[in-house]
Amino acid sequence: MRALCWNGVRDLRVERVPDPEILNPKDAIIKVTMSSVCGSDLHLINGFVPSMRAGDIIGHEFIGEVVETGVGVKNLKKGDRVVVVSVIGCGECQHCKEETWSLCDNSNPNGLLQEKIYQYPTAGIFGYSHLFGGYAGSHAEYIRVPFADHGAFKIPEDISDEKAVFVSDGVPTGYMAAEMAAVKPGDIVAVWGAGGVGQMAIQCAYAMGAERVIAIDRIDYRLAYAARYSGADILNYEDTDVLEELKEATGGRGPDCCIDAVGMEAHTTGIEHIYDKTKQLLRLESDRAAVLRQAIMACRKGGTVSVVGVYAGLVDKIPMGLFMNKGLTIRGGQMHGQRYVPMLFDLIRREIINPEFLLTHPVSLEVGQNAYEMFNNKTNKCMRAVFKPFN
Ligand SMILES: [Zn+2]
Ligand SMILES: [Zn+2]
Repeated sequence: MRALCWNGVRDLRVERVPDPEILNPKDAIIKVTMSSVCGSDLHLINGFVPSMRAGDIIGHEFIGEVVETGVGVKNLKKGDRVVVVSVIGCGECQHCKEETWSLCDNSNPNGLLQEKIYQYPTAGIFGYSHLFGGYAGSHAEYIRVPFADHGAFKIPEDISDEKAVFVSDGVPTGYMAAEMAAVKPGDIVAVWGAGGVGQMAIQCAYAMGAERVIAIDRIDYRLAYAARYSGADILNYEDTDVLEELKEATGGRGPDCCIDAVGMEAHTTGIEHIYDKTKQLLRLESDRAAVLRQAIMACRKGGTVSVVGVYAGLVDKIPMGLFMNKGLTIRGGQMHGQRYVPMLFDLIRREIINPEFLLTHPVSLEVGQNAYEMFNNKTNKCMRAVFKPFN
């Protein structure tokens, strides 16, 4: 089959690779009909996630059609149209039973490697380095889905492919961002990052009753999307003093909930960015934490900071004094998608949230390298490019 493979920093190529096969009775093979780029792929492509190998297939946000099931698969059959959660959960360990699927004890075959870094292994993720299991990703014609009864969900007939594809990752990550931020009716919420996850966090914050959501980014078209499709007020941090503006917007209190939907490649302005970038290049700091710092500073006393932007390792200059003395709560995590999918389909059906506008560029696998460059450089008003491997 054809697949989009990582071959080094910013080097993606379509290659012919063997078709995936059932390896375990609980596996299913899915014919991929749509597979989206995701902001977290950029960390792989830009070389910030260790343990990538030449030839790895990337991609983790996808839908498709079941073409084969292992003898242990009970809930799926050939021909089912499904969305597959990016994070893989076994369904049987303590974490999966507690619905904290991204912490699954059993789905990362390279858990020992991960223990060296994180002390304990976390769940495997499709197409997301050997540290996260070494699973082949979804930018391919076919993909093997382990524990398919738990990770693959039939898409209701009245929900289009263009909406369903983002229920794999972007929508549940945005939902969990708002949930971890403990958004309550009447809250003012600040969201850093107006990419796919940030947009979904904005919509989900409103779904939970937020009175006002303020989106912060530096890319004007993404802020315009946040205003138009997600109903946010917007701040471009290159034109304004974000901390002052947030204070002003909240009567001097600060936002109740602050969401970091950017993560380790954060940009900021001026000397702070140069400092972080230099430390990152010298490997003294693996992640740039400009957004996390600002979120902790901006958050009101007793408020909550929610981190869904991806971090991989160490960060520098976290204002612990503010965190402690302001009585903040900080929560983070990869999303537990399996817990949210049916409820998210319901919110989409009732048009309380709508991810469809994220699909700005339907493309073929062959233009993979260019599509990621466009996505990385934020050109052509791209929110997400979505591969259709059979077009
Ligand atoms: Zn993702
Ligand atoms: Zn598990």
